[in-house]
Amino acid sequence: MTKGKIVKALSGFYYVEVESGQIYQCRGRGLFRKQKITPLVGDRVEIDITDNGHGFVTGISERKNELVRPPIANIDQAIIVTSAREPDFNALLLDRFLVLNEAKRIEPIIVITKMDLVKPDVKKEMETFQQMYENIGYSVVLLSFKDKEQVQQMIPYIRGKASVIAGQSGVGKSSLLNALKPGLDLKVGNISETLGRGKHTTRHVEFISLHQGYVADTPGFSSLDFREIEADELPECFPEMVERQNDCKFRGCKHFKEPKCAVKDAVDSGEIPDFRYNHYLQFLDEIQSRKPRY
Ligand code: GDP
Ligand code: ZN
Repeated sequence: MTKGKIVKALSGFYYVEVESGQIYQCRGRGLFRKQKITPLVGDRVEIDITDNGHGFVTGISERKNELVRPPIANIDQAIIVTSAREPDFNALLLDRFLVLNEAKRIEPIIVITKMDLVKPDVKKEMETFQQMYENIGYSVVLLSFKDKEQVQQMIPYIRGKASVIAGQSGVGKSSLLNALKPGLDLKVGNISETLGRGKHTTRHVEFISLHQGYVADTPGFSSLDFREIEADELPECFPEMVERQNDCKFRGCKHFKEPKCAVKDAVDSGEIPDFRYNHYLQFLDEIQSRKPRY
């Protein structure tokens, strides 16, 4: 029995990379169908090697997390890509991605692209956002895919990790991956890949191995709604709120109308930027006003 990791799933085959780097084309055993577990890309598995490059998946290790669309397991982090221009930087959308990742306990890395297109005032603005998000504890990289040195900043984040890449269509996800891996040649400027609204094709997921890490080749988070998040879980998706919640008078404070709220105090004093708190209230309202699901 050999241990490995599924790096690609296609037409009923699971491609399992073992420690030596060799990849075995494996079938699942009937076992999984009975247990109703489908092996996913990212799964740590045990395989029985049969012959020349083939084998069977015989066991799946417990998953740290999993995404449904794209189907992928054991993600260490999400590289959230947003652009400074074309489309303009959108903090609301960025915060939406951050919340979705926090809810799944996936560490986000923020990347702001197209820095070569901005004038000095917008550059300053992006650096201010960078500072504000870094104060919350996030890593933020500003870059243009055209600048080799700027792209290199990504390498330490990618190394040794399994990442998904997320972000609106057109922000430069494919361009960034191409810049990180010469010869990769992902299609750039592919407008059919609109998040959540695109055609529902059965796409296969594959890990691209680069700089001793893996990045999924399909954008993560095809749906951006908060259907799986409850109102009382939302504050946990804002690290700057988690950090202060013990100083709120009430346990389970939603930092909304409650008196003696440490989060609201921090907003008043400017320690928490207004825009983050406003986005929080907007998301809270969205969750609280959604129709119950039957
Ligand atoms: P994706 O949809 O997120 O994968 O975005 P793409 O990588 O396909 O890029 C969309 C468009 O933005 C393409 O025309 C790219 O050439 C352009 N683009 C992406 N990144 C940058 C960048 O850093 N600077 C400039 N000037 N253009 C970029
Ligand atoms: Zn509070």
